[in-house]
Amino acid sequence: MSKINNINRRKFLEIFGCCTCGLVINSCTTAPITQRKQLKLLPESTLNRQAAQIYKNVKKKTKLSNDKKQLDEIKEIGSKIEEAVSMYFDSVGKKDPTYNFHWEYILIDNDKIKNAWCMPGGKIAVYTGILKVTKNKHGLAAVMGHEIAHAVAKHSVERASRALILNVGTQIADIASGGAISRTSRTTGVDVSGMLRRFGIDNPFGRKQETEADYLGIIFSSLAGYDIRETVKVWERMKEAHKGNEPPEWMSTHPSNARRIAALQQWIPEVIMKYPPIKKIN
Ligand SMILES: [Zn+2]
Repeated sequence: MSKINNINRRKFLEIFGCCTCGLVINSCTTAPITQRKQLKLLPESTLNRQAAQIYKNVKKKTKLSNDKKQLDEIKEIGSKIEEAVSMYFDSVGKKDPTYNFHWEYILIDNDKIKNAWCMPGGKIAVYTGILKVTKNKHGLAAVMGHEIAHAVAKHSVERASRALILNVGTQIADIASGGAISRTSRTTGVDVSGMLRRFGIDNPFGRKQETEADYLGIIFSSLAGYDIRETVKVWERMKEAHKGNEPPEWMSTHPSNARRIAALQQWIPEVIMKYPPIKKIN
């Protein structure tokens, strides 16, 4: 029994330690710009297709704002960032990670939710609640740049791949434990929100991915011509808005606001110098 346990544990760890065994070596890629190693077991096209379907449902089931002026601003910022991302990768001779995206933007009428998200393939939503925190176009570009960065860096593909492995791991552990885990999950029921969670709608990304999205986000906003110094102010306002309610850092996968602000302050001067507004070459 313990021997089986050990073998499975080793197998599990091998799979988990990305790029350490032959089986998954082909499934590893690197994130754009940061070159962080990523695990990708699922085809991106599958996730994009599923995301598009969920986005369609979100549009049908949620109350969309009829503030056309505000939505136009969102679309304008979005298209500037879209263009900047494509031009940047072209300019460095790399394949544009958004070549297969079908960008779309919605403004959800909900003043209580201070959030925005971007699903795989460029399906974006901004909640009216976050507009009080973003305040101006540079602030909104900071938030949108961050969300777009999650999609450009294919964080959902990575997360879904890990979920796949976690399931495999659970099955292995389940065999070893004589089915105790599956008995538990039968009594607790099936997780129906798992699908949405995969796309980061009701669950934050992992801490590494959040930090990467912060970093890439300011790069993309800067390339698109926005003042990324506003990013720090946005997070300060976010901190103020959540005063007293912020979970301690060790409890969440999100970096705490203070830690996030400190990192951004360190990156901003360098990013402004290294990634100035990108111009069309023609
Ligand atoms: Zn994020």
